[in-house]
Formats: sequence, structure tokens, C-alpha cells
Amino acid sequence: MPDTPRPEQLDVVIVGAGFSGMYMLYRLRELGMSARVIEAGSGVGGTWYWNRYPGARCDVESMDYSYSFSPELEQEWEWTERYPAQPEILRYAEHVADRFDLRRDMVFETRVSSAHYDEAADRWLVRTDTGHAISARFCVMATGCLSVPKWPEVDGVEEFAGRTFHTGRWPHEGVDFTGRRVGVIGTGSSAIQSIPQIAAQASAVTVFQRTANFSMPAHNRPLSKEEQADLKARYREYRQAARESFVGVPRPLPTRNALDVSHEERVQTYSAGWDYGGLFGLTGAYLDTRLSEEANETAAEFVRSKIREIVSDPEVARRLSPYDHPLGTKRPCVDTGYYKIYNEPHVDLVDVRATPITKVTPTGVQTSDATYEFDDLVFATGFDAMTGALNAIDIRGRDGAALKEKWAEGPRTYLGVSVAGFPNLFMITGPGSPSVLSNMMVSIEQHVEWVSDCLGHLKSNGLSTIEPTDEAENAWVEHVNEVGAATLYPKANSWYMGANVPGKPRVFMPYVGGVGPYREHCTRIAAEGYTGFVLA
Ligand code: FAD
Ligand code: NAP
Repeated sequence: MPDTPRPEQLDVVIVGAGFSGMYMLYRLRELGMSARVIEAGSGVGGTWYWNRYPGARCDVESMDYSYSFSPELEQEWEWTERYPAQPEILRYAEHVADRFDLRRDMVFETRVSSAHYDEAADRWLVRTDTGHAISARFCVMATGCLSVPKWPEVDGVEEFAGRTFHTGRWPHEGVDFTGRRVGVIGTGSSAIQSIPQIAAQASAVTVFQRTANFSMPAHNRPLSKEEQADLKARYREYRQAARESFVGVPRPLPTRNALDVSHEERVQTYSAGWDYGGLFGLTGAYLDTRLSEEANETAAEFVRSKIREIVSDPEVARRLSPYDHPLGTKRPCVDTGYYKIYNEPHVDLVDVRATPITKVTPTGVQTSDATYEFDDLVFATGFDAMTGALNAIDIRGRDGAALKEKWAEGPRTYLGVSVAGFPNLFMITGPGSPSVLSNMMVSIEQHVEWVSDCLGHLKSNGLSTIEPTDEAENAWVEHVNEVGAATLYPKANSWYMGANVPGKPRVFMPYVGGVGPYREHCTRIAAEGYTGFVLA
């Protein structure tokens, strides 16, 4: 650590300039608090700054996946498509930064390496890789649930002589695959979005699939001015409905169980969902889809029947069909032309469960039964989700206790926003909150507003410290586990469970109780004087 001058003195330090950090800064300014955002990237946007792979696109509709805090902003911004592509979302983030003059309190290309709570001073000392040091009363981790890329655990990756790319760290200038032989490892959302686009340029694409995934068509299309105007005219009530909804998108809730209706009726419902496009038509069609394996299987089999319909080679269709986890227990994907790309003669699928990758060589990939030669390798291998970015920072609370050690058996939080033993530390969409199971924009706004209201409460009551009690945290963790265990989610080896990262504890991390009920709970806790917290 280079010599540091006296740390900059602030009320709040915010780590991360994605949608969470940007809005947090906006709210703190409204409270008249001094704040600085520290961001590793060179610009705002977080996810949409880093994930520039071809085909990167939101799978929540644009009119839903946008801030609601400023009626003027939501009226003036025009979306061009039903599902916005990464460049458009990044432009939106940049527009927000300009419109609210956020950049003047942001430091870019700077990574926070440690955050230590100084008990005597009741302040957080935050240090960065550039030697910047900040002393702040409060620290807000807006570090993202999906911001630390996970590389494949395969020998020889660094030996590969061609170009390598990770979807979550895509070069800003783009990549030209024209005429090249490309290997893609992974078949999650990032792979499913990028493979058709890569295949449109490359001379040959080989996809290495470990787990077949469920994907539904996006049916993306331009968004007409009339459609936007219609929604904008009733945006306030629409946003309110989103806040009260289960997943952060207003939509009618299912009223019946899949197992209580006939096969014909189910197929009709699933077909309508498939034809409408997007995530919810199949995953949210019936009450019991997330709870009963038998009910879930009816939707899963519908997707498999679609794969068989689209993919002409029955053996490839079989390999693409997911059988090892219930539908929705891994984050389902939304695609444009994914399954049908396997009808192209230059696109191949290798099942690496049947024939595991043994190593990456200087010229390609070796599996247990073949050698593949490539010019480029794309790792669409995901993220160390939910806890990765927090554990990458040396966070220490009371008595120098490390958050990483406290979380050795899995994350423990109160409401997904705070941690016992770590006073005045907040997380936006942390583990134990609905976060990744929702339209994240709605969950981000809810957390940011709850935290800023809390800081406003402390300020106006002359208080300086807030910290959850062990009892409240234990009860919340138990509740999160209990509702998670009642669903099918724990049955999948998903990143929700930490199962994608070797050695990570297997714990279902998000809160599955629903965005609306969770919001109500948090609001009640604040209204009752911050039940479960000690305020000093
Ligand atoms: P992020 O956008 O991840 O921002 C966190 C920022 O913190 C990053 O810029 C990072 O560089 C910075 N940071 C982290 N650690 C440090 C550190 N130590 N020091 C300095 N800076 C640090 N959600 C949806 O609801 N719908 C979608 O369709 C959807 N699509 C997605 C597609 C992709 C490819 C990915 C990866 C995620 C997607 N998500 C989606 C989830 C998405 O992450 C959230 O919607 C949202 O963008 C998160 O915003 P955030 O500000 O909380 O985190
Ligand atoms: P992911 O869903 O975790 O997928 C990673 C893929 O890589 C999986 O198929 C995984 O196989 C495979 N993999 C990982 N390590 C491997 C190895 N060593 N050998 C072989 N295969 C390996 O990651 P992601 O696709 O980047 O998506 C992460 C999340 O970001 C999504 O779930 C979603 O929440 C969000 N996202 C959303 C969109 C969108 O449509 N809006 C797009 C991209 C991302 P296993 O399944 O067997 O582990």
C-alpha cells in the first residue's frame, strides 16, 4: 500500500457505479450527505458496462427495467425495443449520470480493496488499489450480485495461443469473429444470447455444454411510440403495481395449480406463454410450478417438446434438453434464435458431462475423446454470484472480524441489507433479499430507498450508528432458508446455491418470499423504529 495522505472525510462511501451505486448517490445528495462512489470500471453502468458480448440484452422488458424514482426521467427517455440491448441500457445509465450530474462524486478505475470498521472512531476506513483512502461514517456496498467473473476450472487455459474472452469482461471495441473457429464454454444466459451472434460471423462454432438449460424465446421487437405513450400515461400506477408484485413486474398472478387442470389446458397455457415470449409465460403459469416436481415437469416437458420441434437432429435435440433440474431452479434464459442455430452445419454441441474437457491446449480444447482446434475461445462461464464481490474486499467489522470468515458457511444477513457485527455497513440487493429473483431495478430502488430513509432517520434523530442484532439476523437467515427449502430451488446445482464455484458453501442465497411482501416487511421494520436493529 503506497503512503496515503490523511483519508478523505465523508459521510458515506459507496462502492460500485452500477444502477445501485448511481441511485444511492442521488438519494444521499438529497439528504445533504457527502458521498463518493468508487468504481473499478472506467464508467457507470456496472453490469451493462462490463457485459458487452454480442447479443447481450435484458430479459426484463425495457419499460419495466428502468428507474422509477424520477417521473421526468421516465417520461423523457425513449426505449427502442421491447427488450433493450446492452448498448441502449448503457446509454441510459450514462444519460442518468449526466442528467443528475452524478460523475462529479465518482472515482473511476479504482478498486476498493479493504473496508475496516474503526470502533473507537465509529467510522469505516476504505482503501483502494490506487492508494486512495476514505474515512466515512457509513459504507454502502453496491458491488453487484453478478460482477465477479468465474473462469473455467480447466487446466491449460493460460496456454491457449489464440484469443480468449470472458462474456463478463468483453472488450469495449467489440470482437470480429469473421471466418474464425470459435469454441464457447458454457450454456447459461450469456452463452445462449451470444452463440447465435458469434455463429453468424464465425466459420465454425463448437459449444461445450455441461448442463443443458431451459430457454424461452424473447420475441423481441421494436417498441412503438404509441405503446410507450400508453404506458407512460399510467406509469405511476404501473410502477406501484411493480413494487407490490411478486417479481417486480406487474402481471396477473396464477390462480390455479398445473396439476388441477387437464393436459390440453396446460399445453394451451404454455403455448400462449411461449408465443408471447419472455420468462414468465412458463415459469409463472401455475401456482405449483416452483413447488411440485410433478407440476414443474409438465412445463419442463413442454420446453423439451419445443426443442425437439426446432432442432432437426434428434440426437442434438436430446443433448440440448434439460433433465437434471426443474424448470426455473437455475435462472431460465430468454433467447433469440438459440436452439435453431444448431441446425446450421457449422455449429456443433459437445456434451462435456459425457466427454469431459481434460485440458485447454495451445491450439484448442481436448476432451476425453477428441481434440478440437480453435482460433478463439469464449468463456461464458458465469460469475461468483451474490457473495463474490463482497468477499473480494477485505471487510472487517467489530474486533477486526472478517466478513468472509463470518460467511464461511454461507452468507448471513439481516434483510439482505445489513450484517450483525458490521455497524453502518449496508449492501444493496445482498444475499437474503429478493434481488436476483426479481426485476433488479425494482429491488435496487427498494433497497436504496430503505437505506437512505434509514440514514435520514439517524440524521434527524441525532443518531450515528445502526447495527442488526444477532437474534434478528439469525431469525431472518432461518426464515430465508425455510421459504427457500419449501421450493424446488435447492434441487439445482445453480449459482443461486453457490454450486457453480468449487468450494463455495451450498446455500440458497436469495430470498424467495417475493418483492411485494419483502418490501412490506422492510417498511414495517422501519416504521416500528427499526425492529431488530440497535440504534445508538
Ligand atoms: P452491478 O451492475 O454489477 O454494478 C456493480 C459495480 O460495482 C460494477 O461496476 C463493479 O465494477 C463495481 N465493483 C464491484 N466491486 C468493486 C470494488 N471492490 N471496487 C470498486 N468497484 C467495484 N437483471 C434483471 O433484472 N434483468 C435482466 O434482464 C438482467 N440481465 C442481466 C444480464 C447480464 C449479462 C448480467 C451479468 C446481469 C443481468 N441482470 C439482470 C442483473 C444485473 O446485474 C442487475 O440488473 C443490475 O444491473 C445490477 O446493478 P448493481 O448496480 O447492483 O450491480
Ligand atoms: P451461468 O448462468 O452461471 O452459466 C455459466 C455456464 O458455464 C453454465 O452453462 C455452466 O455450466 C458453464 N460452466 C461454468 N464452468 C464450467 C466449466 N469449468 N466447464 C464447463 N462448463 C462450465 O452464467 P451466465 O450465463 O453469465 O449468466 C449468469 C446470470 O447473469 C444469469 O443467470 C442471469 O441472471 C444473468 N444474465 C442475464 C441475461 C439476460 O438474458 N438478461 C444474460 C446473461 C446473464 P453448469 O450449468 O453445469 O454450471
